[in-house]
Amino acid sequence: MTRPVLILGGTGEARALASLLVADGVSVVSSLAGRVRNPRLPDGEVRIGGFGGVEGMVAWLRENQPHAVVDATHPFAQQISRNAVEACAEVGVPLVRLVRPAWEAQAGDDWTIVEDIVGAARAVAGGNAARVLLTTGRQDADAFAGIDSAWFLIRVVDPPTGPLPPHHRIVRSRGPYGLDDERTLMADEKIDLLVTKNSGGELTRAKLIAARELGIPVVMVARPVEPCGNVVTSVEEAANFGRK
Ligand code: NAP
Repeated sequence: MTRPVLILGGTGEARALASLLVADGVSVVSSLAGRVRNPRLPDGEVRIGGFGGVEGMVAWLRENQPHAVVDATHPFAQQISRNAVEACAEVGVPLVRLVRPAWEAQAGDDWTIVEDIVGAARAVAGGNAARVLLTTGRQDADAFAGIDSAWFLIRVVDPPTGPLPPHHRIVRSRGPYGLDDERTLMADEKIDLLVTKNSGGELTRAKLIAARELGIPVVMVARPVEPCGNVVTSVEEAANFGRK
């Protein structure tokens, strides 16, 4: 039996990694949480849905015998990454975490860095923004529900299910986003504040460039605690790990 590589996915990098490995003839199983209704499916085999905590992941690893696990989940997805560390240690499977580098402010940027989503909501409520572009994702939109001093353009893949701020419009779309489109959106909607998580990566970077060009301040949610253990920052390095 060829032992597969398990990729914990849900990101563009995870899909790129699966494509690279599949093209090299490596057997790949990608795992998605099942949050997005119509996910872009990676090449190779795909399983969808939670494992059932550390215990469930341990059982999956024992049954499917991957020779390596690449945790290519989003930098803000903390629970699954913690579970992977524990489960892989218990079963004795090599694990690497693929973490795309964080975005860094450049000359001309006006960023307020906050430590979490609650801090972002506090920064919006305490500031004087009138029209906010909120790109922190469906699961975090409820943190802004109590703010009635601003209008929110909430950009999400699937509609949020929790409470939302009283003045808002939902725009459903999925990256990657180009610079022209981001510039047009922010100018047409008279956006005067961008709220985003520091996801890093290229697929959604254009909004930061557009904000810089248009002089729009940014509330940037810093990453949770940096991961430890075996970490790589590029798809190529993760592919080398998966090929071994
Ligand atoms: P999370 O809080 O770290 O994980 C919560 C639970 O969801 C995990 O305990 C696990 O359930 C399940 N899960 C998460 N990722 C999984 C995966 N790749 N395969 C199987 N089960 C998974 O995760 P989250 O922040 O809700 O993110 C969910 C997914 O969306 C991740 O795959 C992530 O890459 C992607 N994503 C997240 C964000 C974000 O901002 N958080 C942004 C873009 C994409 P069990 O305990 O039952 O195994």
